[in-house]
Amino acid sequence: MCSCAKVTFYEVEFKLEGLKVIPTHKNCGNTLNDDQFTSFEKELVKYWGLDAK
Ligand SMILES: [Zn+2]
Repeated sequence: MCSCAKVTFYEVEFKLEGLKVIPTHKNCGNTLNDDQFTSFEKELVKYWGLDAK
């Protein structure tokens, strides 16, 4: 698992593992941990504008 201090939206890519899509940090090649994934999801929602109220 990735243990980088900061993972930005643009450093994440998705890899297919069987039927699952795994978010992966490009810089180190490891999968995101739960905390990183949570903050990444928030960035993703902002990026897509899904948090507009
Ligand atoms: Zn990393």
